[in-house]
Amino acid sequence: MTDVTQRRARRTAADTEPMVLAFDVVVTAVQDLTPTFRRITFGGACLTGFGVAGDTLDLRIKIVIPSEGRACPDIAAMMGDGDAAGWYQRWLGLDAASRGSMRTYTVRESRCGGPRPEIDVDFVLHLDAHGRGGPAAEWAAAAQPGDRVCIIGPNAAAAQCRTAGSYGGIEWSPGLAQHVLLAGDETAVPAISAILEALPADVGGQAFLEVPDEQDIRPIRSRSSVQVTWLARDGRTHGEQLEAAVQDAVRVPGWVSLSGRPAPRGGSEPEDVDVDRTILWETPQLLETAIVQSSVNPERPPGTQPFYAWIAGEAAMVRSVRRYLVRDVGVDRKQVAFMGYWRKGRSEPA
Ligand SMILES: Cc1cc2nc3c(=O)[nH]c(=O)nc-3n(C[C@H](O)[C@H](O)[C@H](O)COP(=O)(O)OP(=O)(O)OC[C@H]3O[C@@H](n4cnc5c(N)ncnc54)[C@H](O)[C@@H]3O)c2cc1C
Repeated sequence: MTDVTQRRARRTAADTEPMVLAFDVVVTAVQDLTPTFRRITFGGACLTGFGVAGDTLDLRIKIVIPSEGRACPDIAAMMGDGDAAGWYQRWLGLDAASRGSMRTYTVRESRCGGPRPEIDVDFVLHLDAHGRGGPAAEWAAAAQPGDRVCIIGPNAAAAQCRTAGSYGGIEWSPGLAQHVLLAGDETAVPAISAILEALPADVGGQAFLEVPDEQDIRPIRSRSSVQVTWLARDGRTHGEQLEAAVQDAVRVPGWVSLSGRPAPRGGSEPEDVDVDRTILWETPQLLETAIVQSSVNPERPPGTQPFYAWIAGEAAMVRSVRRYLVRDVGVDRKQVAFMGYWRKGRSEPA
């Protein structure tokens, strides 16, 4: 039996579809939304195979940006025929110029069901005065229709397949919570916007979006009664206004905890995360998995939380909001997703 036949046989036996696929896409449109945000639309017939079962919410994808003057590496070939697991190591094994750079982005809108499947991604153009930034920001600033990248994202066939596990690219998971708090900086604006657009009418709460400039404020459509507040940084310290807004929205005295009783003296200190060394990523799904794996009977089944918070953006800001909500207020960690989307002064690894 050849390698390929063995892999096919294993896959048939497991009766699962690969969860992720590589999509070789082409830029079909570039639109400057505001001074900070540039919307890049990716198209390609292969995108008919892209998708999740429901709304995309905060669906994340990986984008492989080719090195200047080079073609994108053939990730689809590296994923092989059914052996998707080892592609990342194979990609890492390429020399730096052939490899390009892999970065994480949010699907702002997906229109993959029609005859011209497309995905929109809103890039933050974080460039210095000389037009220099990270590989993704520089690529986005120069992008033109016809440019090609590779997107690694969910396989629509697996999303519809009952035997496949779920694609881990969506963190928004409020369960039955009808009171939500969303807070993020500009990198989280695409995710928060997509989440708000998908929320039903019976959900309320608050959303805070901190952006560099007043001109970055854009309308968001939502059936929900979540109150949306934009915070223009206008040169102030990153996260300063967002943290103040969260503190104002979730006050220490009078906070009602998961049990329905007020949290008397705040909560416990969450273990510190050195955001310079580690990725700050703490979500209810991860905590629930840890509880189930350690065979501890969860007192609070998933989906019963009355309140749910989703916080994303620069990691030090997220850490500070996490400390406030968990330690000072006493919000249960299973009610909050905290996600460091980027780290000041550090490139995204790979
Ligand atoms: C799940 C997830 C979803 C995301 N969704 C989006 C999205 O939809 N749109 C989006 O624009 N970003 C998004 N991000 C953030 C994006 O991945 C990072 O900003 C990434 O570092 C950009 O890559 P780069 O090559 O431009 O910069 P890197 O090479 O990673 O970094 C180079 C330098 O730029 C700094 N830097 C990185 N990002 C920023 C920034 N936003 N502002 C100021 N300085 C920065 C770094 O600290 C570093 O000093 C998301 C991140 C995650 C984890």
